[in-house]
Amino acid sequence: MKRLSDEELGSAFGALSHEIRLLVLDVLERERGAETFGAAPVSYSELIDRTESHTPDGVAFDTSNSPYHLRVLRDAGFVSREAGGYRITQAGVRIVRAIRANIGTDTTFETVPIEEPCPYCGGRSVITLEDEWVFITCRDCPGAFAQEDHLPEGTIAGFQVSPAAVQDRTPHELFRMASRVGLQVHRLFAAGICPTCNATTTTEVLELCPDHSLGDGAVCPSCGRTTDEFLAVSCDVCDRSLMTFPAIVVATDPAVIAALYERGADVTDQTWAALSSPPDWPSEYVSTDPPVLQYTIPVPRGEPLRVRLDAGLNVTVRDG
Ligand SMILES: [Zn+2]
Ligand SMILES: [Zn+2]
Ligand SMILES: [Zn+2]
Repeated sequence: MKRLSDEELGSAFGALSHEIRLLVLDVLERERGAETFGAAPVSYSELIDRTESHTPDGVAFDTSNSPYHLRVLRDAGFVSREAGGYRITQAGVRIVRAIRANIGTDTTFETVPIEEPCPYCGGRSVITLEDEWVFITCRDCPGAFAQEDHLPEGTIAGFQVSPAAVQDRTPHELFRMASRVGLQVHRLFAAGICPTCNATTTTEVLELCPDHSLGDGAVCPSCGRTTDEFLAVSCDVCDRSLMTFPAIVVATDPAVIAALYERGADVTDQTWAALSSPPDWPSEYVSTDPPVLQYTIPVPRGEPLRVRLDAGLNVTVRDG
């Protein structure tokens, strides 16, 4: 895996650390139009004119510095120079889009109940927005992550959201959106693709606890967790990560869904219930280093289905 050197990072951050250079990127991005490939370059004089007209009051734009600003943007790879003028690069487009989607108005909402019962205790669930994370928490039980002190009490699930995702949605609409996106995030990580930057991913933890028992506490004395299985996977480049349950990766795998359907199981529920808690299927280690788990899934017709999940998050249906 390749990470940027301190010099490369410094160059990129430096290039973005000037409001005129960000305005130039914004102007070039607007000019790009719908046809992202092969868009006409913007001439130097046109670029300066448009940047000047978009410069907000109170920001000084000394046009004599423009060649310098453009060189900094080119050196950092955000702008390219071609016959006839300048064009924004894909890296530049992503920077402008990230700013538009992430630097928004400070959107908040009150904690409100949701209509879905807690998948662990059947109790009352609520949706909250905290530090740009949407949390679904249970008011009546410790939820699924009692071992994680930094999460809100009773956390069942948490989703990172951008201000763009929050604005113009009610809490209930946000909940539906987060469930759908959460399912896609699971599928992409399971395929070894980072949902944010599409880089490769690495499975950090794939574990189950053979002696799991909660007793009277919120966490198991043997594994230190609320749930008996755990999966953590992260991006090799941008560090986006997912903490979840391996059984959800198995349950949302198309081959598993097809095999369950053939054996008469109801596979229509791919919504909140499917994502919020792992199905309670018997599981065991086939090997521990590297970890391979095997699930024995009861089905309405015929022998139980045996499915393996390896450290690369590959799912293999063993039967039929
Ligand atoms: Zn609960
Ligand atoms: Zn345990
Ligand atoms: Zn990534």
